[in-house]
Amino acid sequence: IPIASQDARETRSTCPYCGVGCGVIIRTEGSTIVDVRGDPEHPANFGRLCTKGSTLHLTAAPHVAAQSRLLHPMRRARRGAAAAAIGWDEALATLSDRLVDTVRAHGPDAVGLYISGQLLTEDYYVFNKLAKGLLGTNNVDTNSRLCMSSAVSGYKATLGADAPPTCYDDFADADLVFITGSNLAWAHPILCRRLEDAKAARPSQKWIVVDPRKTETAAMADLHLQILPGSDIALYHGLLHLMLWDGLTDAAFVRAHTSGFEALRDRVRECTPRETARATGLREEDIVTAARWWGGSAAVLSLYCMGLNQSAQGTANNGSLINLHLATGQIGRPGAGPFSLTGQPNAMGGREVGGLANLLSAHRDLGDPAHRAEVAALWGVDDVPATPGKTAIEMFEAAADGEIRLLWIACTNPAQSMPDQATVRRALERAEFVVLQEAFATTATAPFADLLLPASTWGEKSGSVTNSERRISRVRPAVRAAGEARDDWRIVVDVARRIERQLRPGRVSLFPYDDAESVWNEHRATTRGRDLDITGLSYALLERDGPQQWPFPAGATRGLARLYADGRFPTPDGRARFFDIAARPPAEPRDARFPFSLTTGRLRDQWHGMSRTGTLGRLYGDVHGPAIDLCAQDMARLNLAEGELVRVTSRRGELVLPARRGDAQASAQAFIAMHWGEESLTGRGDGVAPFAGINALTTPASCPQARQPELKHCAVRIARAGLP
Ligand code: SF4
Repeated sequence: IPIASQDARETRSTCPYCGVGCGVIIRTEGSTIVDVRGDPEHPANFGRLCTKGSTLHLTAAPHVAAQSRLLHPMRRARRGAAAAAIGWDEALATLSDRLVDTVRAHGPDAVGLYISGQLLTEDYYVFNKLAKGLLGTNNVDTNSRLCMSSAVSGYKATLGADAPPTCYDDFADADLVFITGSNLAWAHPILCRRLEDAKAARPSQKWIVVDPRKTETAAMADLHLQILPGSDIALYHGLLHLMLWDGLTDAAFVRAHTSGFEALRDRVRECTPRETARATGLREEDIVTAARWWGGSAAVLSLYCMGLNQSAQGTANNGSLINLHLATGQIGRPGAGPFSLTGQPNAMGGREVGGLANLLSAHRDLGDPAHRAEVAALWGVDDVPATPGKTAIEMFEAAADGEIRLLWIACTNPAQSMPDQATVRRALERAEFVVLQEAFATTATAPFADLLLPASTWGEKSGSVTNSERRISRVRPAVRAAGEARDDWRIVVDVARRIERQLRPGRVSLFPYDDAESVWNEHRATTRGRDLDITGLSYALLERDGPQQWPFPAGATRGLARLYADGRFPTPDGRARFFDIAARPPAEPRDARFPFSLTTGRLRDQWHGMSRTGTLGRLYGDVHGPAIDLCAQDMARLNLAEGELVRVTSRRGELVLPARRGDAQASAQAFIAMHWGEESLTGRGDGVAPFAGINALTTPASCPQARQPELKHCAVRIARAGLP
């Protein structure tokens, strides 16, 4: 958008933080980003931005970038030595030679690629093709595994496809909004504002919030169900029991459009209000109220996120919630349906291109021989390997065991964000070669890397992302990349072409791309005839008409806002499937030795490992630093004063940090924000407790279907630091 002042320009792009996918307008003067404001025409945010989005320009200021960015390719002569700048040619040759040598000596599965939901769809696509199409390994997984893989498997198990059937406009049509496992007010602030608008316009709309903590979102609810951690399935089964008892289910919908109801109906027969109250810690009357509100509402929308997904029962949590929608026919209509919210800006785009160890392009399954053959034909390769790839936790466990020898990590920080840091750090130390492709030099993973590749980032790169409501938005560059940084897709393609010279000499390149658009066009072709068909879309159409939802097949004039309106589901018999499973406790229940339930979560003003938000003092204004939140009763019982240092110990590690009174928690529960890394936690180097942030404590226990780890719960003990 050219504007009046001589060297000033405005560029439309998308916020790089959360899955709301807000549109931004970046103002530049010369080669500097000087301002950001919300894009009034973007259908996700209509001009609004939260504290993180509205300070993006400050994180891109030259003096901030000079301190935080990785500006040149760098190499370490040996682990522990300082990294020295090298040229791109040497960096690319080093990486491609190491990859080829590793594959030749130990086989392709000795390589692991760990990528990120913050990469753009085009970046994701080429990483996936490099691993599965060229190197011959399915060991490519993403930090989105930690964020939404349970939602993927929950949708597929019940509705038949990984597709949220709803859209943001449904907020305005819902009579009951059932928010479960989501602190929307802090984690997706602009959606919370939209929901507040919906309630203001529709005062009869009710909100139920299910959360073990009294969060900011819970404070806004008409009914807060403060369940015991990990008792979600027991609650959903109890609600279904009551709705069946009171005749509030939709028998006609169940009969016409679903399968498997009888087994679930038999299972929930025993889930009486008394039994549900015992399992969840709730009052019977609140459970009854919730069931009657749900069963009596014309349109029920459920919004859910990490509280359901980051669980060893993640798929079952998702499936059991979707059961309620199917049993009451609350799907496929305005204001009705299950709506998983994505944490990261492009977790959805990664799913679309199959950028996980068990997926292939365009929602195809690696385990399906026909899907592998289709993708091999589309890519022009002989085959796609059938051996299942290692998911995030498995990948680092395999590296710790010496099975994976080369790790290529892109746009993510496993030395802080993965659970069970002791294993992750053993993996990073044991791997023979660690490559880190990153925009920021300051992450906890950087010291482990043998080779560092500077990547461009928000404000510098071109491509696309897909937000929580299946809406594809363009990401556009406003300035040149800092230093020698290059676009992620470009780095991958340059490495791939060098590898091809050794592994496929004389053959046509599998990576014939000139720009991000040519990558996206190939991705688009793989979606033809699939549930996410976008063959009617193009960069030109996105330029002209703005962000669009999928599916958008050839010939369409707009994307589909809401799925399954005709009651047909993408399963073999066209029926949605009930998910029948018994409620189970968390993987690591608290006990006499570890008597506290520790949960993790986000702060309003910080993002992930704080590589970007941590550079701005103003974003520490609300929460100044790390702490463990305990209720007043537990503070008194442990004889703790506000701010006093405590030692928090789990079966895997320990850390020391200040105690803070926070009455969001019930007794015997504790909360630590996920953002703080080792630099920011009190006690570094004090000889008391070596640690790597909260994930020194968390468990690698994961969902058997989704392999998503249980970051929301582990058992800990807490004592004043200095006491044994
Ligand atoms: Fe960015 Fe999410 Fe805030 Fe929107 S709500 S401005 S996408 S962080």
